[in-house]
Amino acid sequence: MATERTAATVTGPDVAATGKGRRWPVILLIALAAAMIVASLAGLRLISEKGDDYASPGLHTEVWQSYQLRSELQRLLDTAHAVDDGQAGATSLILRLGVMRNTLDPFRHTPVFDYLPQPRPEVHETIERLDSLSAGWMQRLNWQDQASARRVAADMLAELPAQLRPAHDLIVVSNIAVAAQLDRERQSLQQTFHWLTVTLMLLACGCLILALRILSSQRRSQRLAGELQALNSSLERRVQSRTRLLHEREALLRTILDSTPSDVTLISADQRRVFYVSDDLLTQTGTRRAEDFHLEALFDNGDDYRQLVARLGRGETLHQMEARLCPSSPYWALLSARPLRIHAQSAWLIWSLDITRRKAMEHELQQLASTDALTGLYNRRALLRAAVMQLRRERRAPLSVLLIDIDHFKRINDEYGHPIGDQALRALARQLGDLMQDDALLGRIGGEEFAVMLSGMSPEAVALTAERLRAAVAGAPLIVNDDITLSMTLSIGLTQRHESDSLKSLMMRADRALYRAKSEGRNRCCHLPPVEFTPSEFDEI
Ligand code: GH3
Ligand code: MG
Ligand code: MG
Repeated sequence: MATERTAATVTGPDVAATGKGRRWPVILLIALAAAMIVASLAGLRLISEKGDDYASPGLHTEVWQSYQLRSELQRLLDTAHAVDDGQAGATSLILRLGVMRNTLDPFRHTPVFDYLPQPRPEVHETIERLDSLSAGWMQRLNWQDQASARRVAADMLAELPAQLRPAHDLIVVSNIAVAAQLDRERQSLQQTFHWLTVTLMLLACGCLILALRILSSQRRSQRLAGELQALNSSLERRVQSRTRLLHEREALLRTILDSTPSDVTLISADQRRVFYVSDDLLTQTGTRRAEDFHLEALFDNGDDYRQLVARLGRGETLHQMEARLCPSSPYWALLSARPLRIHAQSAWLIWSLDITRRKAMEHELQQLASTDALTGLYNRRALLRAAVMQLRRERRAPLSVLLIDIDHFKRINDEYGHPIGDQALRALARQLGDLMQDDALLGRIGGEEFAVMLSGMSPEAVALTAERLRAAVAGAPLIVNDDITLSMTLSIGLTQRHESDSLKSLMMRADRALYRAKSEGRNRCCHLPPVEFTPSEFDEI
């Protein structure tokens, strides 16, 4: 019998879904870490750029340039004095004026004065004025023209002294502007670092919170995994114990089935799977393994198999169906069968009980019930039943009856005793059997009364047969117990069945014929011809 094991493993409740739900902190943590890296890199880049700016030699040179401008104005003034005195030429003046203009040039584009806390428009005026004066001077100067150089030098001497004071103011304002610019940049940088610090701290806090959360989540997962493992172990133990129990029950069931007097077949309704079949049935069908068992092979008669399958197929439950099983050595079995479901599959449970002995006993009982114990002939009931069967088989064939009674049999009993009388009855039965044809029905229907049923014979032939019987018995004394010679005579009443006769009316007429034979002196045959009788009543027998 097949037993299906159940192996179970507990998995987390929709682990995949839970995993998806818990993935976002990790993603967020990665995003925060990435943001931290980006912010840190941005901060480093800012620091690097600022470092580069501060390391640059041209940064905030306005102060130095303002000093330079002031010095160049002084030098230009000195050169103008020298030219005016004739100690220097136009070339010196042009070169000096060029240097001064170069020194002035950065002030025309620098944004440093935008950082001044108070607007100082005079600074721009000074620069504009110096620029326009120097541009005019430069236009008037010529490398070869000493005269124009002295005239320009004279203009310079007239104009420049008044510009020295604004140039000095330019130095002061440049200082203030550069200081203000540096302050502004420092504040901006400080503010940037402040926000960067706050951002990094927030990101770090976020990372910390998430890391703690992930850590706690991991611990929870580990704890759950532990619990799951414990649960699995417990489940495994339960499954093992359950499997063992099933095995024990299966063994017990097998023991019960093997020791039951009935054979059992448990087979799927499509007959493709054999769940169980008794060893005896396997042996009878010459099958080694239950899987190779074929239900049809069990039946000696294919009709029985088809009837069983058809009824089970209709969902019927069969009780006590008799069938001959095992074609190689047929025996009678009583089948009980019912459809059921096993492992969610339609199946048939068939019990078969060997009833060979019961059948034999039934046969024996039937024999006993239908046979006269003393003579072995039919008894009255069996003879009449056989006659009915005969009539049903051959309704049209003429049926004749001979009722035979031993004359004065009582005297034999009285003279020799009852046992000798019994032997005489047996000897007469044998003699009658020997004298009758095989198809004649012969029975002992009373104490010393016999009956013969003859089918298909004419009245004349029946009369001859009766006479032959009577004469044979009368002419041949019976030897009983080897030393007792018994002379017996018979009175025989005979008649034929009229088509309107029932068996009962037929027997009654034969009895009347016998009575007449007795009354007319015994040791004779008396024939009563068939007469119409109503109605036909075979069933009353
Ligand atoms: P009849 O010519 O009028 O038939 O005379 P009978 O003596 O044969 O008839 P009766 O009815 O007076 O007696 C029948 C006898 O048959 C009586 C009985 O003792 C005997 N008998 C009936 N059955 C048996 C039996 O089974 N064994 C023996 N030994 N005798 C039996
Ligand atoms: Mg008699
Ligand atoms: Mg009698």
